[in-house]
Amino acid sequence: MGHDCSKVLSKVFLALDGEMTEEEEKSFLKQLQECSCCLGQFEIEKEFKSFLQQKVEKKCVKAETVSAIKTKISTQAFA
Ligand SMILES: [Zn+2]
Repeated sequence: MGHDCSKVLSKVFLALDGEMTEEEEKSFLKQLQECSCCLGQFEIEKEFKSFLQQKVEKKCVKAETVSAIKTKISTQAFA
């Protein structure tokens, strides 16, 4: 009934970024539940976003680990 996947999907990022009003979000989520294609795409973007956030956090930890290892290596090299 007048469902336009591309129109719904263009709002996915707005929803994920929390740039929707409560009312907009409600009707958006309703549209998602009416279409498994849109719902699937929304889940993918949602997981991708949290994956990116985790990756950024991990990178911070990794950078510290890398420099710790480098220090260890150079200490050993000069020992
Ligand atoms: Zn759709």
